[in-house]
Amino acid sequence: MAPLPEPRPAVLPLPGGRQGATVRVHPLLCGLASWPEPWAHREGGRFAKLRSIGTGVSRDSWVPVPIVAFLVEHPGAGPMLIDTGLDPVVAEHPRLSFGRILGATGGKTFTMEPGQAVPEQLRARGVNPADVKLILMTHLHYDHASGMGQFPNATFLITKWEWDAANGPMSLLHGYVRKHFVRDVDYRMLDFEGREAEPYATFGRTLDLFGDGSVRALPTPGHTHGHVSVLLRTSRLEILVAGDATYTRHTLETGHRPAHIEDERLFTRSLRALQIYHREKPDALVIPGHDLDAWRELAPVYA
Ligand SMILES: [Zn+2]
Repeated sequence: MAPLPEPRPAVLPLPGGRQGATVRVHPLLCGLASWPEPWAHREGGRFAKLRSIGTGVSRDSWVPVPIVAFLVEHPGAGPMLIDTGLDPVVAEHPRLSFGRILGATGGKTFTMEPGQAVPEQLRARGVNPADVKLILMTHLHYDHASGMGQFPNATFLITKWEWDAANGPMSLLHGYVRKHFVRDVDYRMLDFEGREAEPYATFGRTLDLFGDGSVRALPTPGHTHGHVSVLLRTSRLEILVAGDATYTRHTLETGHRPAHIEDERLFTRSLRALQIYHREKPDALVIPGHDLDAWRELAPVYA
């Protein structure tokens, strides 16, 4: 397959910012998967790697995990998304979205109701999917990017590190399915080294997307090379969408790592920043990437 065009830099702030703006945040459950407990929380010992992919782990101890995305409604910029959930084809044929190998392995554990496709969920909330012009991708793994093709009018925000990893050699082995990366859409790079980056809370470099403090991208590499978390300001509280920088609340609270990490050193640094934020801002809500118990406690919308 021919390489996709290199994304251009995002020009910040994006239009639509309003001083003092707050956003409405709708957590969207896009399906469920299941994985062996040692995948989410690393074990020691000789067989740890095998057990992390389920070998020798009783099927009863696999845990259900939510596949998630977020609708964020900004008063000036309109609706945007964080991640895209799953292509509706996953409900019937995971192989058609994830490909032969992933579709037959981890992908076969996915379950999805037809109404869980993100466009359906937007319509149910009175939002026309065609009005979503902006999608911030925490990263491009297949459980976050499968639904990208449903938003052909959107600009996708990603980091260069993530883009390069997702389009690099053997990227399938790292959790990327290149056909998810739709062509003919606008990809824009977030540059945390650029002059727009500024410190916020416990994070040294953040990008204030609209220049009004309502939506900030935070670099949290480690799970993948270019992973991004997102800070959202609602009228009542601050929400930190951690993405897969921490799969679970257990990891956030104890530091217990998952089995597979692209860069251990960066993961540690990112997790530490999340942990300090969590400790210093006890009133803020930190949402881990794949924790069903934590997910069930969320409100349908935060305004
Ligand atoms: Zn994930």
